[in-house]
Amino acid sequence: MIVRVEKSAEIFRIDKAGERHLNIYKGCPIGCPFCYWQADPSWNGYLYVYSDVRERLEAEIGSVPPSSLIRLSYGPLEKEWRLARSCISLLLEHGMRLIISSDYPEILDDIGMLSSHKEQVKVIIELSKFKAMDEFNRSGSNMYFDIANELRRNGIDVSATVSPVLPGITDVEEIARHLPSIPVHISLLDVRPGTLWGENTLSYVRDNYPELYQDYLAISESGRDPYYESLYEKYKDGKGQIRTDLPFYDTRPKGNADAIR
Ligand code: SF4
Repeated sequence: MIVRVEKSAEIFRIDKAGERHLNIYKGCPIGCPFCYWQADPSWNGYLYVYSDVRERLEAEIGSVPPSSLIRLSYGPLEKEWRLARSCISLLLEHGMRLIISSDYPEILDDIGMLSSHKEQVKVIIELSKFKAMDEFNRSGSNMYFDIANELRRNGIDVSATVSPVLPGITDVEEIARHLPSIPVHISLLDVRPGTLWGENTLSYVRDNYPELYQDYLAISESGRDPYYESLYEKYKDGKGQIRTDLPFYDTRPKGNADAIR
């Protein structure tokens, strides 16, 4: 991937639900075929680092209402740049409430800082990644489970997401058993025909899980996933560990042109 180090145009992105996302990094090397972001040509193949984000945040934090909820993510270049750590430290000092997403183990380097402000912090760990789920299905764990459980052991509020549920690959009840005391939120797979992520997911499943291909094709054609629906019926009351809502605004676009901004 090509790394681009840039100055921030805007330090916050406001999503369609009106929530504030701190722009630290952009791009992802994981390459999930169902990812909506791939429809954005400026996103594919690039990793962006907004190298001045800490300075900009320091200059502008006075204009952010006190106790605001800020969303931010650790990125693949955190080990080198440590920008998430630096921004989190500043935001916590100013009393902000944070929802932090992380696909990277560097968050564990900051566990002391996060646990000493645990009343201000919630962490979301996404589990739906094909290769990582293969590892979990073989061995009963993977890096994402280890990160989630370690954060929880340190008293941090953690939610896991299986977004989307991947039938035949993500056994949600088995996942929940390996994440004691952590809510597991699920959402329906979107493989609509004519969408880039729908076509890419079908190709990926055909090439890597041929035994599941007909099931995924049926989901694409009907828009319905019987496995997800069975989980939904069982857990829709929202009282148990498995939850049928997401702990963030669902960015599901209506079509390719509506992919996340
Ligand atoms: S779905 Fe998430 S982890 Fe997968 S490629 Fe997109 S941003 Fe990366």
